[in-house]
Amino acid sequence: MSSIQSTLQFVSDLIERESITPNDGGCIDYLSGKLTELGFVVTELEFSGVKNLWAVHNSNNANLYDIKEQTLTFLGHVDVVPAGDIDKWNTPPFTPTIKGDTLYGRGAVDMKGGVAAMLNACNNFIKENGNNYNGSIAWLITADEEGIADFGTKAVLEWLLQQKVSINSCLIGEPASAGKLGDQIKIGRRGSLNGFVQIHGMQGHVAYTKGQDNIIHKVLPALSKLANLDLAKGDDYFPATEFHIVKVNADGGAVNVVPGDIEIAFNLRFSPKQDIVSYKQSVNDILAEFDHTIKWQLSANPFFSEPKKLAEAAKHAIRSHTKLEAKYSTSGGTSDGRFFPKTYPDAEIVELGPVNTSAHQVNEYTSVKELETLSEIYKEVLGLFFHKK
Ligand SMILES: [Zn+2]
Repeated sequence: MSSIQSTLQFVSDLIERESITPNDGGCIDYLSGKLTELGFVVTELEFSGVKNLWAVHNSNNANLYDIKEQTLTFLGHVDVVPAGDIDKWNTPPFTPTIKGDTLYGRGAVDMKGGVAAMLNACNNFIKENGNNYNGSIAWLITADEEGIADFGTKAVLEWLLQQKVSINSCLIGEPASAGKLGDQIKIGRRGSLNGFVQIHGMQGHVAYTKGQDNIIHKVLPALSKLANLDLAKGDDYFPATEFHIVKVNADGGAVNVVPGDIEIAFNLRFSPKQDIVSYKQSVNDILAEFDHTIKWQLSANPFFSEPKKLAEAAKHAIRSHTKLEAKYSTSGGTSDGRFFPKTYPDAEIVELGPVNTSAHQVNEYTSVKELETLSEIYKEVLGLFFHKK
Protein backbone atom coordinates (compact mmCIF):
# COMPACT_ATOMS: atom_id res chain seq x y z
CA MET A 1 0.00 0.00 0.00
CA SER A 2 1.49 3.33 -0.98
CA SER A 3 1.84 6.15 1.49
CA ILE A 4 -1.03 8.12 0.01
CA GLN A 5 -3.52 5.27 0.32
CA SER A 6 -2.72 4.90 4.00
CA THR A 7 -2.95 8.59 4.93
CA LEU A 8 -6.12 8.92 2.87
CA GLN A 9 -7.53 5.74 4.38
CA PHE A 10 -6.73 6.92 7.93
CA VAL A 11 -8.25 10.37 7.48
CA SER A 12 -11.35 8.92 5.80
CA ASP A 13 -11.83 6.40 8.61
CA LEU A 14 -11.60 9.26 11.12
CA ILE A 15 -13.95 11.64 9.28
CA GLU A 16 -16.71 9.04 9.08
CA ARG A 17 -16.52 8.57 12.85
CA GLU A 18 -18.76 11.47 13.83
CA SER A 19 -16.95 13.00 16.79
CA ILE A 20 -18.57 16.26 17.72
CA THR A 21 -16.74 17.68 20.71
CA PRO A 22 -16.32 16.27 23.33
CA ASN A 23 -17.44 12.94 21.83
CA ASP A 24 -14.80 10.84 20.16
CA GLY A 25 -17.28 8.90 17.98
CA GLY A 26 -15.05 5.82 18.14
CA CYS A 27 -11.91 7.63 16.92
CA ILE A 28 -9.99 6.89 20.12
CA ASP A 29 -10.64 3.14 19.84
CA TYR A 30 -9.75 3.30 16.16
CA LEU A 31 -6.39 4.95 16.90
CA SER A 32 -5.78 2.59 19.84
CA GLY A 33 -6.15 -0.32 17.44
CA LYS A 34 -3.82 1.15 14.83
CA LEU A 35 -1.15 2.14 17.35
CA THR A 36 -1.33 -1.25 19.08
CA GLU A 37 -0.73 -2.91 15.69
CA LEU A 38 2.38 -0.76 15.34
CA GLY A 39 3.69 -1.95 18.71
CA PHE A 40 2.67 1.01 20.84
CA VAL A 41 1.58 0.37 24.41
CA VAL A 42 -1.72 2.24 24.60
CA THR A 43 -3.61 3.61 27.58
CA GLU A 44 -7.08 5.01 27.10
CA LEU A 45 -7.78 7.66 29.72
CA GLU A 46 -11.30 8.76 30.48
CA PHE A 47 -11.86 11.92 32.50
CA SER A 48 -15.47 12.94 33.28
CA GLY A 49 -16.70 10.95 30.31
CA VAL A 50 -14.15 12.41 27.87
CA LYS A 51 -11.92 9.90 26.10
CA ASN A 52 -8.20 10.49 25.64
CA LEU A 53 -5.30 8.32 24.59
CA TRP A 54 -1.69 8.04 25.63
CA ALA A 55 0.59 5.66 23.75
CA VAL A 56 4.30 4.89 23.87
CA HIS A 57 6.59 3.06 21.48
CA ASN A 58 10.22 2.40 22.35
CA SER A 59 12.97 -0.07 22.00
CA ASN A 60 12.10 -2.23 24.98
CA ASN A 61 8.36 -1.63 25.47
CA ALA A 62 8.89 -2.99 28.95
CA ASN A 63 6.95 -0.35 30.75
CA LEU A 64 4.11 1.86 29.70
CA TYR A 65 5.56 4.87 31.42
CA ASP A 66 9.17 4.10 30.66
CA ILE A 67 9.83 6.97 28.36
CA LYS A 68 13.38 7.19 27.17
CA GLU A 69 15.26 10.41 27.39
CA GLN A 70 14.74 11.37 23.75
CA THR A 71 10.99 11.43 23.28
CA LEU A 72 8.99 12.79 20.42
CA THR A 73 5.32 13.16 21.39
CA PHE A 74 2.71 13.62 18.67
CA LEU A 75 -0.22 15.60 19.97
CA GLY A 76 -3.62 16.03 18.40
CA HIS A 77 -7.37 16.01 18.80
CA VAL A 78 -10.05 13.93 17.10
CA ASP A 79 -13.07 15.99 18.14
CA VAL A 80 -14.58 18.41 15.65
CA VAL A 81 -16.97 21.33 15.79
CA PRO A 82 -20.59 20.67 14.70
CA ALA A 83 -21.33 20.63 10.97
CA GLY A 84 -23.24 23.92 11.12
CA ASP A 85 -25.83 24.64 8.45
CA ILE A 86 -26.17 21.22 6.82
CA ASP A 87 -27.92 22.70 3.76
CA LYS A 88 -24.81 24.66 2.91
CA TRP A 89 -22.67 21.52 2.66
CA ASN A 90 -22.21 20.24 -0.90
CA THR A 91 -21.38 16.77 0.43
CA PRO A 92 -22.44 15.07 3.68
CA PRO A 93 -20.06 16.39 6.39
CA PHE A 94 -19.32 12.98 7.89
CA THR A 95 -18.90 11.18 4.59
CA PRO A 96 -15.35 11.74 3.37
CA THR A 97 -15.64 12.78 -0.26
CA ILE A 98 -12.81 13.25 -2.75
CA LYS A 99 -13.07 15.51 -5.78
CA GLY A 100 -9.82 15.74 -7.71
CA ASP A 101 -7.13 16.46 -5.14
CA THR A 102 -9.58 17.80 -2.55
CA LEU A 103 -10.95 15.87 0.38
CA TYR A 104 -14.15 17.23 1.93
CA GLY A 105 -15.51 16.42 5.37
CA ARG A 106 -15.77 17.85 8.87
CA GLY A 107 -12.33 17.56 10.46
CA ALA A 108 -10.46 17.20 7.13
CA VAL A 109 -8.19 20.10 8.07
CA ASP A 110 -8.89 20.54 11.81
CA MET A 111 -7.40 18.12 12.52
CA LYS A 112 -8.11 14.60 11.39
CA GLY A 113 -5.88 15.22 8.36
CA GLY A 114 -2.93 16.00 10.63
CA VAL A 115 -3.64 12.97 12.85
CA ALA A 116 -3.80 10.70 9.77
CA ALA A 117 -0.48 12.09 8.49
CA MET A 118 1.08 11.51 11.94
CA LEU A 119 -0.21 7.93 11.95
CA ASN A 120 1.09 7.19 8.47
CA ALA A 121 4.47 8.73 9.33
CA CYS A 122 4.81 6.55 12.46
CA ASN A 123 3.61 3.55 10.47
CA ASN A 124 6.33 4.03 7.84
CA PHE A 125 9.06 4.96 10.33
CA ILE A 126 8.42 1.92 12.54
CA LYS A 127 8.09 -0.40 9.54
CA GLU A 128 11.55 0.73 8.42
CA ASN A 129 13.26 0.92 11.78
CA GLY A 130 11.33 -1.36 14.11
CA ASN A 131 12.62 -0.76 17.61
CA ASN A 132 16.00 0.13 16.23
CA TYR A 133 16.14 3.77 17.20
CA ASN A 134 17.29 5.42 20.35
CA GLY A 135 14.36 6.95 22.23
CA SER A 136 10.59 6.86 22.41
CA ILE A 137 7.70 7.94 20.24
CA ALA A 138 4.58 8.92 22.17
CA TRP A 139 1.04 9.90 21.21
CA LEU A 140 -1.33 12.13 23.14
CA ILE A 141 -4.77 12.34 21.55
CA THR A 142 -7.84 13.97 23.02
CA ALA A 143 -11.51 14.35 22.13
CA ASP A 144 -11.81 17.57 24.11
CA GLU A 145 -10.01 20.37 22.30
CA GLU A 146 -12.75 22.27 20.51
CA GLY A 147 -14.92 22.81 23.59
CA ILE A 148 -14.18 23.60 27.23
CA ALA A 149 -11.05 21.43 27.06
CA ASP A 150 -10.90 20.77 30.80
CA PHE A 151 -10.81 16.98 30.42
CA GLY A 152 -8.55 16.73 27.41
CA THR A 153 -4.86 17.51 26.98
CA LYS A 154 -4.83 19.52 30.19
CA ALA A 155 -6.05 16.54 32.25
CA VAL A 156 -3.78 14.07 30.45
CA LEU A 157 -0.70 16.24 31.08
CA GLU A 158 -1.58 16.49 34.78
CA TRP A 159 -2.03 12.72 34.88
CA LEU A 160 1.31 12.15 33.12
CA LEU A 161 3.04 14.46 35.54
CA GLN A 162 1.61 12.43 38.44
CA GLN A 163 2.96 9.25 36.82
CA LYS A 164 6.35 11.01 36.60
CA VAL A 165 6.41 10.66 32.83
CA SER A 166 8.70 13.22 31.24
CA ILE A 167 7.76 14.95 28.00
CA ASN A 168 10.49 16.91 26.30
CA SER A 169 9.52 17.44 22.65
CA CYS A 170 6.02 17.75 21.33
CA LEU A 171 4.81 18.04 17.75
CA ILE A 172 1.23 19.28 17.32
CA GLY A 173 -0.41 18.54 13.97
CA GLU A 174 -2.88 21.43 13.97
CA PRO A 175 -3.40 23.30 10.68
CA ALA A 176 -0.54 25.70 11.37
CA SER A 177 0.45 26.53 7.78
CA ALA A 178 -0.80 29.83 6.37
CA GLY A 179 -0.80 29.82 2.55
CA LYS A 180 1.38 26.86 1.63
CA LEU A 181 2.20 23.66 3.48
CA GLY A 182 5.21 24.33 5.71
CA ASP A 183 5.40 28.09 5.15
CA GLN A 184 5.31 28.52 8.91
CA ILE A 185 5.58 26.53 12.09
CA LYS A 186 4.15 27.75 15.34
CA ILE A 187 6.26 27.91 18.44
CA GLY A 188 3.83 29.67 20.74
CA ARG A 189 0.50 31.40 20.88
CA ARG A 190 -0.79 34.57 22.42
CA GLY A 191 -2.87 34.44 25.58
CA SER A 192 -6.51 35.49 25.68
CA LEU A 193 -8.18 37.42 28.48
CA ASN A 194 -11.85 38.48 28.55
CA GLY A 195 -13.35 41.26 30.66
CA PHE A 196 -17.09 41.57 31.32
CA VAL A 197 -18.14 44.89 32.83
CA GLN A 198 -21.52 46.05 34.16
CA ILE A 199 -21.76 49.77 34.81
CA HIS A 200 -24.72 51.11 36.73
CA GLY A 201 -26.14 54.57 36.06
CA MET A 202 -29.52 56.15 36.55
CA GLN A 203 -32.35 55.52 34.15
CA GLY A 204 -34.36 58.64 33.37
CA HIS A 205 -36.47 60.68 30.96
CA VAL A 206 -34.34 62.42 28.33
CA ALA A 207 -36.22 65.64 28.95
CA TYR A 208 -35.37 65.60 32.66
CA THR A 209 -31.80 64.18 32.62
CA LYS A 210 -28.72 66.38 32.17
CA GLY A 211 -26.11 65.31 29.61
CA GLN A 212 -23.46 64.90 32.30
CA ASP A 213 -25.71 62.42 34.13
CA ASN A 214 -26.18 60.23 31.06
CA ILE A 215 -24.22 57.06 31.75
CA ILE A 216 -23.38 56.53 28.07
CA HIS A 217 -21.83 60.00 27.85
CA LYS A 218 -19.87 59.36 31.03
CA VAL A 219 -18.57 55.99 29.88
CA LEU A 220 -17.42 56.98 26.39
CA PRO A 221 -14.20 58.71 27.51
CA ALA A 222 -13.41 55.73 29.73
CA LEU A 223 -13.80 53.37 26.76
CA SER A 224 -11.43 55.53 24.80
CA LYS A 225 -8.92 55.35 27.67
CA LEU A 226 -9.24 51.56 27.73
CA ALA A 227 -8.59 51.42 24.00
CA ASN A 228 -5.50 53.59 24.37
CA LEU A 229 -3.76 51.86 27.28
CA ASP A 230 -0.07 51.18 26.81
CA LEU A 231 0.33 47.50 26.01
CA ALA A 232 3.32 45.23 25.39
CA LYS A 233 5.02 45.90 22.07
CA GLY A 234 5.76 43.21 19.51
CA ASP A 235 9.09 41.38 19.35
CA ASP A 236 10.82 38.86 17.09
CA TYR A 237 8.27 36.16 17.82
CA PHE A 238 5.10 37.88 19.07
CA PRO A 239 2.92 40.64 17.66
CA ALA A 240 2.04 43.51 20.01
CA THR A 241 -0.69 42.87 22.57
CA GLU A 242 -4.07 43.79 21.12
CA PHE A 243 -7.20 45.05 22.82
CA HIS A 244 -10.69 44.93 21.38
CA ILE A 245 -14.01 46.07 22.79
CA VAL A 246 -16.37 43.40 21.53
CA LYS A 247 -19.64 44.50 23.08
CA VAL A 248 -21.25 47.73 24.26
CA ASN A 249 -24.85 47.31 25.24
CA ALA A 250 -27.08 50.06 26.64
CA ASP A 251 -30.69 50.42 25.68
CA GLY A 252 -33.36 52.46 27.42
CA GLY A 253 -36.01 50.68 25.35
CA ALA A 254 -37.42 53.92 23.88
CA VAL A 255 -35.99 57.09 22.35
CA ASN A 256 -37.03 59.21 25.32
CA VAL A 257 -35.35 56.99 27.93
CA VAL A 258 -31.77 57.41 29.15
CA PRO A 259 -30.54 53.85 29.88
CA GLY A 260 -29.63 52.92 33.42
CA ASP A 261 -26.94 50.32 32.78
CA ILE A 262 -24.20 49.62 30.30
CA GLU A 263 -22.74 46.23 29.59
CA ILE A 264 -19.28 46.06 28.07
CA ALA A 265 -17.15 43.11 27.01
CA PHE A 266 -13.58 43.21 25.78
CA ASN A 267 -10.81 40.82 24.83
CA LEU A 268 -7.06 41.10 25.16
CA ARG A 269 -4.77 38.96 22.99
CA PHE A 270 -1.48 39.18 24.77
CA SER A 271 2.12 38.15 24.43
CA PRO A 272 4.16 36.61 27.29
CA LYS A 273 5.70 40.07 27.80
CA GLN A 274 2.37 41.57 28.83
CA ASP A 275 2.09 42.11 32.59
CA ILE A 276 -1.49 41.01 33.28
CA VAL A 277 -1.59 42.05 36.95
CA SER A 278 -0.70 45.64 36.17
CA TYR A 279 -2.97 45.60 33.13
CA LYS A 280 -5.96 44.64 35.29
CA GLN A 281 -4.98 47.37 37.74
CA SER A 282 -4.99 49.98 34.95
CA VAL A 283 -8.46 48.85 33.86
CA ASN A 284 -9.70 49.00 37.45
CA ASP A 285 -8.25 52.53 37.81
CA ILE A 286 -10.09 53.72 34.70
CA LEU A 287 -13.38 52.21 35.88
CA ALA A 288 -13.00 53.35 39.49
CA GLU A 289 -15.22 56.41 39.02
CA PHE A 290 -18.21 54.18 38.13
CA ASP A 291 -20.53 52.03 40.17
CA HIS A 292 -19.53 48.83 38.42
CA THR A 293 -18.67 45.15 38.57
CA ILE A 294 -16.04 43.44 36.47
CA LYS A 295 -15.55 39.75 35.81
CA TRP A 296 -12.31 38.47 34.35
CA GLN A 297 -12.00 35.28 32.41
CA LEU A 298 -8.59 34.03 31.37
CA SER A 299 -9.35 31.74 28.45
CA ALA A 300 -5.72 30.98 27.62
CA ASN A 301 -2.28 31.70 28.95
CA PRO A 302 0.29 32.61 26.34
CA PHE A 303 3.06 30.16 25.66
CA PHE A 304 6.36 30.36 23.93
CA SER A 305 8.77 27.59 23.13
CA GLU A 306 12.32 28.56 22.26
CA PRO A 307 13.13 26.85 18.92
CA LYS A 308 15.50 23.94 19.57
CA LYS A 309 16.11 20.47 18.19
CA LEU A 310 12.52 19.73 17.13
CA ALA A 311 11.97 23.09 15.42
CA GLU A 312 15.25 22.64 13.56
CA ALA A 313 14.24 19.14 12.46
CA ALA A 314 10.85 20.47 11.31
CA LYS A 315 12.45 23.29 9.29
CA HIS A 316 14.89 20.88 7.70
CA ALA A 317 12.18 18.37 6.77
CA ILE A 318 9.98 21.13 5.34
CA ARG A 319 12.88 22.43 3.27
CA SER A 320 13.62 19.03 1.78
CA HIS A 321 9.99 18.31 0.85
CA THR A 322 8.68 21.74 -0.15
CA LYS A 323 11.80 23.88 -0.70
CA LEU A 324 10.21 26.43 1.65
CA GLU A 325 12.04 28.21 4.45
CA ALA A 326 9.50 27.95 7.27
CA LYS A 327 8.96 31.05 9.40
CA TYR A 328 8.42 30.87 13.12
CA SER A 329 5.00 32.19 14.06
CA THR A 330 2.80 32.68 17.12
CA SER A 331 -0.26 33.93 15.25
CA GLY A 332 -3.80 32.68 15.39
CA GLY A 333 -6.09 31.41 18.13
CA THR A 334 -4.98 29.31 21.06
CA SER A 335 -4.03 25.64 20.90
CA ASP A 336 -3.51 22.78 23.33
CA GLY A 337 0.11 23.89 23.54
CA ARG A 338 -1.18 26.36 26.12
CA PHE A 339 -1.39 23.60 28.73
CA PHE A 340 2.36 22.89 28.75
CA PRO A 341 3.72 25.90 30.68
CA LYS A 342 1.93 24.70 33.84
CA THR A 343 2.90 21.04 33.58
CA TYR A 344 5.94 20.76 31.31
CA PRO A 345 7.43 24.26 31.07
CA ASP A 346 10.69 23.02 29.54
CA ALA A 347 9.12 20.97 26.75
CA GLU A 348 9.80 22.13 23.22
CA ILE A 349 6.47 22.63 21.42
CA VAL A 350 6.22 22.85 17.65
CA GLU A 351 3.03 23.09 15.64
CA LEU A 352 3.29 21.93 12.06
CA GLY A 353 0.32 20.91 9.96
CA PRO A 354 -1.87 21.49 6.91
CA VAL A 355 -2.79 24.87 5.48
CA ASN A 356 -5.69 26.29 7.44
CA THR A 357 -8.05 26.51 4.49
CA SER A 358 -11.42 26.06 6.08
CA ALA A 359 -11.30 25.05 9.75
CA HIS A 360 -14.74 25.23 11.38
CA GLN A 361 -16.38 26.31 8.08
CA VAL A 362 -19.01 24.46 6.06
CA ASN A 363 -17.50 22.37 3.25
CA GLU A 364 -14.28 21.93 5.25
CA TYR A 365 -11.58 20.57 2.95
CA THR A 366 -7.91 19.80 2.55
CA SER A 367 -5.57 18.75 -0.23
CA VAL A 368 -4.91 15.01 -0.43
CA LYS A 369 -1.48 15.61 -1.95
CA GLU A 370 -0.65 17.99 0.88
CA LEU A 371 -1.53 15.34 3.48
CA GLU A 372 0.81 12.94 1.70
CA THR A 373 3.64 15.47 1.80
CA LEU A 374 2.86 16.28 5.43
CA SER A 375 3.15 12.61 6.31
CA GLU A 376 6.56 12.48 4.59
CA ILE A 377 7.64 15.60 6.46
CA TYR A 378 6.61 14.06 9.80
CA LYS A 379 8.49 10.89 8.94
CA GLU A 380 11.61 12.87 8.13
CA VAL A 381 11.24 14.77 11.42
CA LEU A 382 11.24 11.38 13.19
CA GLY A 383 14.37 10.38 11.28
CA LEU A 384 16.20 13.62 12.04
CA PHE A 385 15.08 13.60 15.67
CA PHE A 386 16.39 10.07 16.23
CA HIS A 387 19.35 10.45 13.84
CA LYS A 388 17.99 7.88 11.44
CA LYS A 389 18.06 8.16 7.71
ZN1 LIG B 1 -7.83 21.97 15.98
